[in-house]
Amino acid sequence: MARITIQGGRVMDPLAGTAELRPLHILDGHIVDSLPAPPDRLIDVAGAWIAPGFIDLHTHVFSHGLFGSGLVTADRIGVEQGVACVVDAGSAGAATIEGFNTYVMPTQRTSVFAFINIGSPGLPHLTGGHSSRPEYCDLAATVRAFERHGEWLVGVKMLASQSHAGSFGIEAIKLARKAAELVGKPMMVHIGNAPPVIDDVLDLLRPGDIVTHAYHGKTGGVLGYRDRVIPAFREAVERGVIVDLGHGQSSFSFRTCEIALEQGMPVHCISTDLHRGSLARQAVSLARTMCKMRALGFSLFEVIRAVTRAPADAIGIGSRGFGDLSVGSRAHATVFLEIDEPWELEDAEGERRIAPSRIEPVGVLIGDAWYERSAPL
Ligand SMILES: [Zn+2]
Repeated sequence: MARITIQGGRVMDPLAGTAELRPLHILDGHIVDSLPAPPDRLIDVAGAWIAPGFIDLHTHVFSHGLFGSGLVTADRIGVEQGVACVVDAGSAGAATIEGFNTYVMPTQRTSVFAFINIGSPGLPHLTGGHSSRPEYCDLAATVRAFERHGEWLVGVKMLASQSHAGSFGIEAIKLARKAAELVGKPMMVHIGNAPPVIDDVLDLLRPGDIVTHAYHGKTGGVLGYRDRVIPAFREAVERGVIVDLGHGQSSFSFRTCEIALEQGMPVHCISTDLHRGSLARQAVSLARTMCKMRALGFSLFEVIRAVTRAPADAIGIGSRGFGDLSVGSRAHATVFLEIDEPWELEDAEGERRIAPSRIEPVGVLIGDAWYERSAPL
């Protein structure tokens, strides 16, 4: 019976927007009201916030020779940066998902979930794009993968841009939507360079589907003539499509985001799209990406909700100990400091804004294992 107490911090309820200075007790990997005996391990986090475990909804963690230069490991951008859970966004498709199951799932301490790519190869480089031809998009094989890996497959990913889907794009989206419907999970759609044009892509999204890279700065995104939000995006939001940031190397623009926010558009989930490229400079960490939304006026609780409750609900993992710190749940908690000093941050377009403070994870608890942050932010 492992007994752990994290003490000295303020325990956050992101949904209610409240926090309470009290200890958090964990018994055998689950949150409890009180311990039956003194703790075996006391973790002192005086002055820190204790939040539900951070979730990064859009990452690429299929670190394997298939990808040539190699992607990042889940732990490098997970527990080493104070993140409890990373969700891989379509690095593997039906033809490569067994590799993900073998080389990623059992090897990482960070909790990992994944969207399967409708393009069977997943993301290894393929001339013309991994979902650019009908023979690359195998509906039946995609659905069958959920029978084997339904524990950690949370949806279907579609990269709706010219470089990944060529002129087959709109048909590939329909296949991804069909697969998502057949397995009862959401579809996550990456928007980028046309074709397909964004209006056609958004019209295919249903309530609960996720649009990622929502506020990229490329031509033909969510802003239309004279920077007005296009009707297809507003309608998608109004019918319950989830808006994900998905920073990446070239997919987040402060300007696009702030113009959309002014017109009442949301950011539901904050994610990094971390891979080897965006780790070096543009996105770097989930904490840094969260602070970019602080720079655009989000409160601390709003950014915490966007990496806890919101992504947990989006992929249906709330009942597995994500999204809150309720008694009885499996324990996933991120402990972080909010350092009261301005932080100048750069988006993927090279523009800068200043966040009012820094979010600095101290460590993360997963079950009864505590990991101190060890990687830069
Ligand atoms: Zn991505």
